[in-house]
This record gives sequence, C-alpha cells and structure tokens, in this order.
Amino acid sequence: PTAPTVMTMNGHFAGVGEQHSAEDFEHGIQIIDSDKNFNDSLPAYLQKEGVIRAGFNYHLISVFGSQSTGKSTLLNYLFGTQFGVMSEKERRQTTKGIWMSKNKKEHAEGNTAMAANILVMDVEGTDGRERGEDQDFERKSALFALATSEVLIVNIWEHQVGLYQGANMGLLKTVFEVNLQLFLKDQKSVPRSLLFFVIRDHLGTTPLSNLKETLKADLQRLWSGLSKPPGLEKSQIDDYFDFAFVALPHKILQPEKFEQEVARLGTRFREGFKDPKRDGLVDESTEPVLLPAYHRRIPADGFPMYANGIWEQIDSNKDLDLPTQQELLAQFRCDEIMKEVMLTFDAVVSPLEDRQAEGINSGRPVVIAALGNLIGEARKVVLASFEEEASRYHKGVFKTKSAELQTKVDSRLKALYHGQLSAAHKSGVEDFSEAVTTAVKAGQKKGTNYDFHQIVQTEKQKALKKFESEAQSSAVAGATWSDYRSQLNLYQKELDEVSSRLRKDEMRRLATRSERWVRSRLGESIGLEFNKLGSGRGGSGAPAEGEKPPSEKDIWDRVWNVFTDTIAHAESRFTERARSFDASPEEVEVGLWRLRRKSWGALRDKLDEETMEGNLLLKLRENFEDKFRYDEEGVPRIWRPTDDIEGLYTKARESTLTLIPLLSRFKLSGTSAPPPLDAWIGDAPATVTAADEEDLNPIGGVDEEEGKSLEEEMTILGDSKSQDLSTRFKKTADGVYVEAKRSAIGGVTQ
Ligand code: GDP
Ligand code: MG
Repeated sequence: PTAPTVMTMNGHFAGVGEQHSAEDFEHGIQIIDSDKNFNDSLPAYLQKEGVIRAGFNYHLISVFGSQSTGKSTLLNYLFGTQFGVMSEKERRQTTKGIWMSKNKKEHAEGNTAMAANILVMDVEGTDGRERGEDQDFERKSALFALATSEVLIVNIWEHQVGLYQGANMGLLKTVFEVNLQLFLKDQKSVPRSLLFFVIRDHLGTTPLSNLKETLKADLQRLWSGLSKPPGLEKSQIDDYFDFAFVALPHKILQPEKFEQEVARLGTRFREGFKDPKRDGLVDESTEPVLLPAYHRRIPADGFPMYANGIWEQIDSNKDLDLPTQQELLAQFRCDEIMKEVMLTFDAVVSPLEDRQAEGINSGRPVVIAALGNLIGEARKVVLASFEEEASRYHKGVFKTKSAELQTKVDSRLKALYHGQLSAAHKSGVEDFSEAVTTAVKAGQKKGTNYDFHQIVQTEKQKALKKFESEAQSSAVAGATWSDYRSQLNLYQKELDEVSSRLRKDEMRRLATRSERWVRSRLGESIGLEFNKLGSGRGGSGAPAEGEKPPSEKDIWDRVWNVFTDTIAHAESRFTERARSFDASPEEVEVGLWRLRRKSWGALRDKLDEETMEGNLLLKLRENFEDKFRYDEEGVPRIWRPTDDIEGLYTKARESTLTLIPLLSRFKLSGTSAPPPLDAWIGDAPATVTAADEEDLNPIGGVDEEEGKSLEEEMTILGDSKSQDLSTRFKKTADGVYVEAKRSAIGGVTQ
C-alpha cells in the first residue's frame, strides 16, 4: 500500500546545484504550489539558509486557520518573515499552497540559540472561499503540517471562539483523526504536538482564561465525538497534544499594544522567557514553546526528501505511513551518506590498493610503510563520519547500513592487509635467501670454515623480526581481521623450507669439495705407490733369493688401504661439517654413500692413468733395470765377460714379467680376491632420490642391473693389453741385455 515515493527524487540535494538568486527566496520558498506540486528547490533553500547541515538542530512551526485572519501578518511579526499579506483594501487570498521561510529575527543578546533554525510554514487558509467548495487542499495541507511540524499555530478571531460548527473546528477534527491513524501505525514515530491557539482581536472583555476554557471544552467535545480506531477508544486528547493559548490585541484599534504583545510572543517562540506571572490577561504562560518532545527527529538534510514523500502520499490519497516514510528516507539517505564518506575513504585507500596491485603485477611485491596507521585512520574516519551523519536516521536502517559499510570497508582493508602480509612474506623470503647466499660467499672467500648453521640462524631471526615488525605496523587496532599469526606461521614454515633448500645446496658444495679433496689426495698417494714399482725392491730391503719383492706383491693391499684410509678421513670430515649445519642423519648417510661411489670413480681414474701403456712400460723397464743392472747392495754392475749376464737377465726379466698379471687385476693378497667394494660402498640408503643418483656412474658388482661383475670392475688390464705389454717389455729388456753384453765385451778389449 505504501509506494516508495521518496525514491522518485533524484537525491535529497536535488536542486542544490541549481543556481538561485537571492530574489528567488525573497519571500521564503513556496514548497507546495497551488497545483499541489512539491518544490524541488527546497534543498537549495535550506542550503542557502544554512539549515541543511543542522542535523536535528532546527524546528518547524506551521500556522493554519481561516482565510484572511491575519496568519501571514502574524508570522511576519513573530519571525520577521516576508510572507505575502493581503492589502487592507482587497479581500483576496494571497497565500497559495504552502510557503516556508526561516526565522529572520535575532535572538536576544546573551541568550544562546536555544531554538536556532526555526522554519515557519504558512499554510493556505481555510474556508474554501477562494477554492469554492473544494476543501481537498485544506485537508491535505493540514495533514502535511501535522506530519512535519512541532507546533501548529491555530489562528482564530476572538469572535470565532465558541463557534463549534466553524471551519476551524472542522479542520481540527481532521487533524485529530489523522493523528490517531498515525499513532496507530507506530506509536514511537509520532511525537506529541503543540496546538498553539492564537486568539486575534482580543477585546479584553472576556479574559483569556475564559476563552481558553471554552476552546478546551469544544476540543473535548470534538474528541469524544471522534470515531476512534479499535484499541484507542479510551484515549484522551491530552495523550497526544499539548495546548497553549495566547490572545493578541486588535491590530487596527490598538496597534501599539498589538506590536508589543506580538513581539513578546515572538521572543517566547525563539527563546522562551521566565518573567514572573503578569496580569494573566494576554498570555498565561512563560514557558518556551519548542520543547524537544515535539521534535519530529528528521535530520535537516533528509527533510526535503521526507517532506516530499509525505506530500506525495497525502496528495495521492494514500494512507499516511510515517514509519515507512522514515525507513525509506533512512535507506536512501544512508546510501547517499555512505557514498559520500566512501569518497574520502577511496581517496586514501585506492592509491594504496593501486600500489599493491602494481607490485603484484611487476612481480616485485611492495611493502607499504606504516600501512596500519593509514588504513586504521581511514577506517576510523569513514565509520565515524557515517555514524555522525546517518545515526540520526531510523535506528534499524542505520544499524543495517552501518554494518553494510563496515563489511564493505573491512573487506577492502582486509584484502589490502593480506596483500601487505603476502608482500612482506615474499620479499622476506627472497631477502633471506639472498642474505644467506651472500654470507656463504663471503665465508667461502675467507676459507671453508664459515659457520653455515650460524649464518642461517642469524638471517632467519632477522627475517622473522622484520616480518613481525612489518605485520605489526600494518595492523589495525580493533579490526578482527588484523591478525597475522597464521601468516607468521606460514612465513616461518617457508623460511624453514628455504633453509633446507639452502642446506641442500650447502651439502652439494660440501660434497664437491670432499670429492675434489679425495681426488687430489688419491692422485698423490696412489701415484706414490705406483712409483715404488720403479725400484725393484720397493724400499723394503733386498728381496730374498728367488722371491719377488714383497712391496710388489702387495701393491693392491696398499692401494686399497691408502684408498679406504683416505676416504675414511674424508667421511669423518664430511660428517662433522654436515652435522654442523643441521643436516639430517639421512642426508649425511646419502652424502657419504655418494662420496664413496664418487671416490671409487676417482680411484679408478687414477688407476687407469697409472696403467696407461706408456706409463706402465716405463715402470716395468725401471723395475727390470733396477733388478738387472744393480747388485743386491744397490751398486751398479760393471759387466765383465765372465759374468753370468744371461742368467741375471733372465731372472730379472721373469721377475718383472710377474708384475703384469699382478697389475692386471685389483686383488688383495690375503684372499686373492677383489677388495670388498660392494660391502664397502654399502646399499643405497632408503632416502636416496633420483636426483641424488643422477650424476653417479654405474659400478660393476655394486649396481647389479649393470650386468658387470665385481671381477670385471676390478680388471685393470685386459688379456690382449697384458699380452702387448709383455711383448713390448720383452723387447725393451732385450735391448738392455744386448747393451750389457756389448759393454762386457767392450770392457775386455779395452
Ligand atoms: P491571512 O490570509 O490569514 O494570511 O491574512 P493576512 O495576513 O493576509 O491578513 C489579512 C488582512 O487582515 C490584512 O488586510 C491584514 O492587514 C489584516 N489583519 C492582519 N492582522 C490583523 C489583526 O490582528 N486584526 C485585524 N483586524 N486585521 C488584521
Ligand atoms: Mg496568508
């Protein structure tokens, strides 16, 4: 039944933007014209009069009564307004529709503006003389006045008092009826009103108190004659209305007295006054008129829309439904206020959102300094300004809209806050990783003894501290979403992940260093063992007759021992260092396993190098010459023809030749079997990954799927290579023998 008429306006400030000259509002504003149109310029008028921002600090007073009873005249006297007044010669209606004007009279010196911003409505007179029998407009304007005004001035001639059938009484009956209807809708939305009777042309013969009694009796009679809605049958007129009565002297006959009294009355409207009881003839009260209880509680900035909505309801003969009007008004105004306060909010927050988005798009996350202060302030301001403006409207609507605003604001700020945390997270992780890498590089420059564990711990503490301080300075006090604990947890976890990745890198570096060390160590020590082959006695004294030098026979035992000793040393260094930066036992286990395999590869490379044909031939020749050309004491032989050169040659040659089968297979002397390489390397640890195995070469006898046996892995020289070597060695030995023979003969001839 209630059309949302307020929605038809294009906003409560419609008309504010339009240009109005001062003359436009010279006589106030005709808010409803004679064609019953509502004036869209009302906001502009209230703006011009400085009322629009007054909140509840304004008042509305209406006057009605019969045509040409001096209503406009009275208002002009009381409030300094300039409503049109009929000239004394013509009897023609001047006030058409409803006019409004702001009080133009100053308050008395020293009296605070107790009733500031008084708006007065001059309502077209009643009796239908000018409008024929159509009393429609009178009824409607009375309703309008009742719905909006705190005080209704009822203007009557003294001689009309007691005329129960008069036009005034008919109108009052309408007012009472409508009030009951309004009251029935929602008791809270209809405050009391003051019916202020101003009795004009008071001759003084009948005292005011008598006139008042007569009027009150008439009103009572009127009230009891009303058909009251169910539930309100027993209601009294005093439940809804206060009454005040004032009489004014005859304006034409007693002009001075008239002016004096009307001035006094005006002061009472504006300020109230407390002078002692006077003669009681003219005005029985000294109380202020504009009591808070009468206020309609429509904020000034919502008044034009509210009044318009009410007028449209009245004009279209709909049931006047103030609560619904107030709710609609509240919804509309709250939305508008929300838009307004969001402009200020956007001015602060949008640039921050843009900066953050840019950071995300460019892949370089931006941590905005002191974000918490910025957005906390914006949040406080937007909520407070909304509350200040909007809380004057319908409480339920305000609460809903306020929650809506808070949700809107908080969802934006929460996104910003989380964006900030994730920026702090990303940049923190990057910084951390970089700081560790840099510190490791600096440590490496100084040597290999830098403390990786310490570096990681120090940088992690720094990173956590920085994140926390950034998160704290981004937090907004009082916002439930402003909690970074779970993000801090995530951050901590990621730092740990990065640490473990960095530790893996460090492990790899350690492995590379260890392998390099093993390779160079083996290069020396294995080379040394092979060099010993060059001397036929290997430094262990002269071999017993017919026996091979022990040093040659157990070369592989020594190679294996040197090898395993070296690796054992490397392993313990590796373990110690890996443990120093918290490598897990599993990681260490894998690292050692890899180290052993790599080391075996290094040994094989070294052995291959030592047993290259050229190298080995040289060693064999040295070995042979040592046995052939030197005696047991290591003294060079001077060959004489009597010497058993051939015998010595054969013995030395055969002895050296035994090295070839010895060297061709890596065998331990004790078992005559290959060293236990498979057992020594051990099974692959359970935690080995494909990445760990990627750069490992297969080892025969260890990696079964290779199809190569340990025997083959331990083959240093193949059969044909051994054969070749043996042939070439014999030729070399032959050469030495021939030379020896020659030198023996030569020695004789000399
Ligand atoms: P309205 O139609 O009720 O607004 O009446 P107006 O203010 O236009 O006044 C109508 C006529 O009554 C004018 O000619 C006024 O001069 C005259 N008038 C105004 N006040 C008084 C008054 O107190 N007593 C008498 N007798 N005439 C008045
Ligand atoms: Mg008038």
